[in-house]
Amino acid sequence: MAKRFSAETYVAGILAGDRMMLSRAITLVESRLASDQELAQQVINQVLPHTGNSFRIGITGVPGVGKSTFIEAFGNYLIEQQDKKLAVLAIDPTSQRTGGSILGDKTRMESLSHHPHAFIRPSPAGKSLGGVTKSTRETILLCEAAGYDAIFVETVGVGQSETAVHGMVDFFLLLMLAGAGDELQGIKRGIMEMADAIAITKADSNNQLKAKAAKAEYQNALHLYPLPASGWLPRVSVCSALKETGLEQIWQTMADYLEHTQQNGFFEQKRREQNLQWLFETIRQSLEEKFYAQPGVQQALPDIMRQVKEGEQSAFAAAAALLRLS
Ligand code: GDP
Repeated sequence: MAKRFSAETYVAGILAGDRMMLSRAITLVESRLASDQELAQQVINQVLPHTGNSFRIGITGVPGVGKSTFIEAFGNYLIEQQDKKLAVLAIDPTSQRTGGSILGDKTRMESLSHHPHAFIRPSPAGKSLGGVTKSTRETILLCEAAGYDAIFVETVGVGQSETAVHGMVDFFLLLMLAGAGDELQGIKRGIMEMADAIAITKADSNNQLKAKAAKAEYQNALHLYPLPASGWLPRVSVCSALKETGLEQIWQTMADYLEHTQQNGFFEQKRREQNLQWLFETIRQSLEEKFYAQPGVQQALPDIMRQVKEGEQSAFAAAAALLRLS
């Protein structure tokens, strides 16, 4: 087991920007041990007054769209040109299967990972989406307390994890390819609707014209959606992470969004709603964990599952019987 410190030691280290202490506190947050969890909650409570000061940015797109190349180029731009301290986190439910992570691959984000103003943390392995979501939300707070003022939360654009990321960020960026069939590349309509901006990637060499055409197409598609509650009309831009073009425009879009939503109050309102959502999710999750941890429930569950599967008992009656055991 990793060495543990007192909550005060973690907090002092994090507030001083000590990356090792930050990493260790994140490991506590990700731990399944009840004693680690208790310590993690103490740390989080103590750093809470120092949180909330970052711009939280979700980034999604199908595998191969160029997410890691983009994050590396855009991340370096934010650090070098906008004087940001950047943390990159990931929500990657597939990491359960590989035991690794999309960010675990050392070849990804090579230059960013060595930058003193960047902190890259792979998605926690071996957890359910709910577990990863909880850890990532808490990790955002720890990173903010450590002084990171831009936080990227990356996810693969294929499933429910986008909704989870959307529920924890201020701004949601969708990366898209030009000319790849043009039928939205398996990106679900719901994900398009969540986007505050779309960036068409790989707009370089002989792909540039296609990228511009795709930009017009997506811009038109977005006009058909009702204006979201933020009052912000999502923008589309083109970029090349390889040639490092279009990055400034994407940052300008984000900065404009920030100004727009801070002025009309949406920014604060969304954060408050996210906090409430977080409260209820945490309650639901811990009730569920407690329920399944009961020895009586664990003992009865396999047989009851079989009975429900084979139609010997209704799901409702079975659930009621299990709940009575707890
Ligand atoms: P991810 O799976 O979404 O993280 O995608 P990667 O960042 O790994 O990129 C997938 C492939 O696209 C790699 O071969 C990259 O070299 C290539 N790629 C990424 N960005 C660009 C770009 O801006 N221009 C070009 N031409 N290729 C790119």
